[in-house]
Amino acid sequence: MSDPKPVKPVVEGWFTAGAKPALIGTRCAVCSSAFFPREDLFCRNPHCDSTQLDQVELSRTGTIWAATQNFYPPPPPYIAPDPFEPYILAAVTLDDDGLVVMGPVRRGAAVEQLCAGTRVELSTGIAYEDDDATWLMWEWAPIEAPSVVAANVTTDETEGSALR
Ligand SMILES: [Zn+2]
Repeated sequence: MSDPKPVKPVVEGWFTAGAKPALIGTRCAVCSSAFFPREDLFCRNPHCDSTQLDQVELSRTGTIWAATQNFYPPPPPYIAPDPFEPYILAAVTLDDDGLVVMGPVRRGAAVEQLCAGTRVELSTGIAYEDDDATWLMWEWAPIEAPSVVAANVTTDETEGSALR
């Protein structure tokens, strides 16, 4: 084994690492609106003129609002792994914060399994590695295995039999 490289978040200050990672946002002290990425100057709620925004860790769990599979590398400034592999991108409604946050879904999930309403939790995965570090990105990990796969396999076998 070569010397271990440091593990760092791709964007400093956007999420915590460790066993229970969380997105770092801010919350208005007056109207409780939450913001991600963080808002530090003024509350963006048009009915609120507060400038007191406190740093908070946002909900670690949420529900998929929509998901899609990306077959091309994201444009700069994002750095895609080389060789590029298609990945799934999900928009997730956070449980307690009223926010929808986009992020990649942990590899191994099939986009067909990630219907609206699928429960996910925040995790981290390796975005890419270079000479300086292993860079972490937040990602969404499905909480429970959906049962859609078994139903599809049965259908495919039935169709296969009919063709013989
Ligand atoms: Zn406010």
